[in-house]
Amino acid sequence: MVDLIVRKREGGRLSREEIDALVAGVVDGSIPDYQIAALLMAIVWRGLDDEETGWLTDAMARSGGRVDWSAVPGVKVGKHSTGGVGDKLTLVVVPLAAACGVIVPKSSGRGLGHTGGTIDKLESIPGFRTTLGREELLEVVARHGCAFVGQSADLAPADKKLYALRDVTGTVESLPLIASSIMSKKIAEGTDALVLDVKVGRGALMQDPADARRLAALMVAIGRQVRLPTRAVLTAMDAPLGRAVGNAIEVAESIETLKGRGPEDVTELAVTLASHMVAIAGLEPDDSAARARVEAALVSGAALERFRAVVARQGGDPAVIDDPSRLPAPASRRTATARRSGVVTAIDARRVGRAAMTLGAGRERLDTVIDHGAGIVLHVSPGAQVRAGDPVADLLVGAGRTADDAERLLDEAIAIGDAAPAHGPLVHDVVR
Ligand code: URA
Repeated sequence: MVDLIVRKREGGRLSREEIDALVAGVVDGSIPDYQIAALLMAIVWRGLDDEETGWLTDAMARSGGRVDWSAVPGVKVGKHSTGGVGDKLTLVVVPLAAACGVIVPKSSGRGLGHTGGTIDKLESIPGFRTTLGREELLEVVARHGCAFVGQSADLAPADKKLYALRDVTGTVESLPLIASSIMSKKIAEGTDALVLDVKVGRGALMQDPADARRLAALMVAIGRQVRLPTRAVLTAMDAPLGRAVGNAIEVAESIETLKGRGPEDVTELAVTLASHMVAIAGLEPDDSAARARVEAALVSGAALERFRAVVARQGGDPAVIDDPSRLPAPASRRTATARRSGVVTAIDARRVGRAAMTLGAGRERLDTVIDHGAGIVLHVSPGAQVRAGDPVADLLVGAGRTADDAERLLDEAIAIGDAAPAHGPLVHDVVR
């Protein structure tokens, strides 16, 4: 290990055999954390070339089990987001793509810090089970074309260990480490193709568009190396997505979107991502035919019915779909108002995410217990005209929480000025 650390520190290369041995040592615990951490820091500074990144990804993907979907007919397509604020797209995209004939066994994580997690959102539906045994998962996917589950412990365990170490040693911010971390888990999920939503902007892991593009290209290249056809869609994450930030409240907004009444940005991105899944699955000859199929599944209500069926099958109360008031409610509410008159020039997604976290909707630490009813509902979006005293957001306050920090963060997050902001694109680019 000392030789590897020194070689990488000096800008040298690791061989495939060395990377395999490293990953094996991470998993069996034979390499001490301090040496792994030192090597990670050397990688942050010196990088990994594309070949080393591919080897690391492959070794991590093989470090645990790999799901075998051969018993389920159809093309299986994975979806992954690098994480955002108000990012409820999975809840809409999965039933939408499934209603179009794509098989989507969706495995998701929990929220940490200012970003939310799909599993926490789904668990706000009373009774919903995000842990399914292997047989049951296969059965749900075969019957409904999709399922929502948490990441199983046996999936890419090397990444789990490395990520936990990176999180506490200042070594998360490395494009090859991020790309290999994400792709190792997606490869182990065993799908036939993959669509990535790479978020760019203030509320995203990648704040610089050039970095986001490099990350996307790297993940697509890894996909090519391991024969997993991958597309990456670069999407805006400056302001929160939609109006709702939290858990139950995001489920409610997702249901509205599946009913065709969702916010424009959520609807547009859900349709875009689902269209890429239909196209990469080869179910339509080109992107525009794929989009037409997806739009039809939204308008006809087929996607909504797919969601209802899978919620019921996974133990959730399907009545929430017709009556979202059955979802958990906050302990109390407060309204935040505009300090001055003018136009909303920006809404800082990161600050809104932190505000929602202080209300109980997110986790400061891994062991924080979240309150599913907590969150924020924004009444304005960038470009909106407001007068001083107008309501700009509802704060949904979780049990045992106070709203003061959230109100201050929201006040900083919602910038009000005199000139309307430039309207940036929702989709920056697609890397194929
Ligand atoms: N998400 C991951 O899964 N891994 C990273 O390294 C960063 C974000």
